[in-house]
Amino acid sequence: MVVSAKGVIHHLLMNFTKTAQESTPLVTSDLVHVVPVCMSRDAMAIKPGGLIDYNKKEIVGLEQKIDVTYVKEHPNPGPDELKFFTEAGAVILTTLDNETTLLVGSDYLTKSTSGDAVFRFIKDCVVKIQCCLACLDRTPKSESGILESIPDCKSSCLECSKNILDGIWNPCMECAGNGQPSAYPSLKACHHCLENGIQCVKIVCWCGPVIVRPIIGRP
Ligand SMILES: [Zn+2]
Ligand SMILES: [Zn+2]
Ligand SMILES: [Zn+2]
Repeated sequence: MVVSAKGVIHHLLMNFTKTAQESTPLVTSDLVHVVPVCMSRDAMAIKPGGLIDYNKKEIVGLEQKIDVTYVKEHPNPGPDELKFFTEAGAVILTTLDNETTLLVGSDYLTKSTSGDAVFRFIKDCVVKIQCCLACLDRTPKSESGILESIPDCKSSCLECSKNILDGIWNPCMECAGNGQPSAYPSLKACHHCLENGIQCVKIVCWCGPVIVRPIIGRP
């Protein structure tokens, strides 16, 4: 495989979200179905080096895109500009009931990858992973297969945010009227699904111990 792009892989994430629906949900109703997952990353050392990808007409294996334009603009690149990948890794999702697991993303690190860069990568993955199935489906697919932009999947509400700040889990009056089960955006149906009257199916990344509440709406 040619080292090319890092990030969440669109079709793998969609497949995982579809399959994970069968696992134990955290919240389920006609409006929203949320399955909790654990996200893990692991990487192994690789031999650093560049490879020519003849299809894309690029040299891959480096942090920056090296194509004809780059070569023309950087006739004498220094070591600070050329950063080879030294580790290849994967982003893996597993449902909390251990029923479903799948690799959904790739990660490549250089020797100088900072803690800040790793944090930004994880944050970007979590935001994309928590996008609902309908919004993932309507996001245009990129050529590389990587989910490049953040899909437009929003479920936040100002009044509910005020509730959260006051330590209240329950949604505001308006959201409760719509049937939303919680004030937390990741447990609510997104605006797109709500407007189109479809069940919002999504996964939520579980971050360590949380106050355990009974599954809302589960028979
Ligand atoms: Zn959505
Ligand atoms: Zn609300
Ligand atoms: Zn949705």
